[in-house]
Amino acid sequence: MSAVLDRVPKGLLVAGRWRPGAATFVVENPATGEALCEVADGTPADALAALDAADAAQRRWAAVPPRVRGEVLRRAHDLLMERIDEFALLITLEMGKSRAEARAEVEYGAHYLRWFGEEAVRIDGTWKVSEDGTARVLVTRQPVGPCLLITPWNAPLAMPARKIGPAVAAGCTMIVKPAEQTPLTTAALAEVLREAGLPDGVLNVVPTTRAAAITEPLLRDGRLRKLSFTGSTPVGRLLMAQAAGTVLRTSMELGGNAPFIVCEDADVDAAVEGAMTAKLRNIGEACIAANRFHVHADVAGEFTRKLVARMESVAVTVMGPMIDERQRSRVAALVDETVAAGAQLRAGGVVPDGPGYFYPPTVLTGVPSGARISREEIFGPVAAIRTFTSEAEVLHAANDTEFGLVSYLYTQDLNRALRMVERLETGMIGLNRGYVSDPSAPFGGMKQSGVGREGGNSGINEYLEQKYVAIDAGRA
Ligand code: NAD
Repeated sequence: MSAVLDRVPKGLLVAGRWRPGAATFVVENPATGEALCEVADGTPADALAALDAADAAQRRWAAVPPRVRGEVLRRAHDLLMERIDEFALLITLEMGKSRAEARAEVEYGAHYLRWFGEEAVRIDGTWKVSEDGTARVLVTRQPVGPCLLITPWNAPLAMPARKIGPAVAAGCTMIVKPAEQTPLTTAALAEVLREAGLPDGVLNVVPTTRAAAITEPLLRDGRLRKLSFTGSTPVGRLLMAQAAGTVLRTSMELGGNAPFIVCEDADVDAAVEGAMTAKLRNIGEACIAANRFHVHADVAGEFTRKLVARMESVAVTVMGPMIDERQRSRVAALVDETVAAGAQLRAGGVVPDGPGYFYPPTVLTGVPSGARISREEIFGPVAAIRTFTSEAEVLHAANDTEFGLVSYLYTQDLNRALRMVERLETGMIGLNRGYVSDPSAPFGGMKQSGVGREGGNSGINEYLEQKYVAIDAGRA
């Protein structure tokens, strides 16, 4: 364990060199509450130095052939897969998810690098004759320019990979600001990209405990051309307001409040299986975690019984701890408040003794309508179940939120599935499936869950600017 930690750079990556910070901060292991190591605490001056480096490298990097950019990403993918155990250990140490889930995250993140490595050579343009025939319309795509990439703690490898991959493929330079809880995996990922041949200055990394202080001057600086943020909706709103000052292009991957709908004609066993994935993956600390369970009254008894049995079979130490005490107390308070308002506690709900920030898989039924637990992102291993009796009722309830990231729908009736898929107001839908993450698919939300998509065929466009050239066609 200490060998893995020893190998991780602890400084700030600026212009291809890891430099120490003026101060440091402690990174903690959430399973024990103990310190893992100290990392440089970036300042506004460090952030501006990183922007200087990104700006200086931009033109050269944009001119590097697409195949060469793609091969850097492919090599980085291969290196990550070779070192999957080492990366998984690092994720487990600083974030808390199980080793199996951490390995799955490394694979998922690496696949984004591979996917965008392949996209680098498929950036196309168009050519056509203007409507009146007097001009030719040439449309090309160019890298948008230096980007600021801000990432959350819940997937410390996949979240930066999902942004770095398309930025590198498009020919952009960047500054990554990892979450302060999990800066180590991002630092190790940056090292892998350097080893894979990414030139100095293309990728700069500034860990910090003062996120707002370092991002504000960057967002005000006209050299920055793009902000891609993954995190909570309140911080996303704040950043969008700041980005308005320079009319900065933004991509926002924000919070969710996913409904998980089980219709009366669903395969209940499949729904329980999907619920386990959609609820417990990442200890429930996922933007795409199922947040509100809506189960038809005819199958609610069977679904709840089976879900409770499965949730109780998961040992809390195997599932992993929550990220910190603040998150754990927030989830515990949400459960206690819901029970006090009349819900029944069917599993879990009690904070275990001992070190670390563990909270057990928990099931609540009879959740009152309008309860805070149904309006807010739980971000923990808690399934809050309500029943419904009609399709119209459940569609109204599912869409009755400002969020619109993902929904899960279990039904075996094709016509019902098509009807409901069209009416659900979310950017992604898991139809008879509890898992939607896939590098080949456009990941992102509607409403206040975000703007833009990551991955899929359109993901690279977030980092490309269209340029249109009107060419006079002359006269015959
Ligand atoms: P957060 O919003 O608190 O922090 C996210 C990042 O923003 C961190 O790097 C943090 O340091 C930084 N930050 C915080 N305040 C800032 C400020 N004022 N200015 C600039 N940067 C600031 O979110 P979190 O707790 O780290 O992550 C959990 C949230 O992320 C959840 O809401 C979850 O749904 C969301 N999330 C969304 C997706 C998605 O793709 N839609 C994926 C993962 C997580």
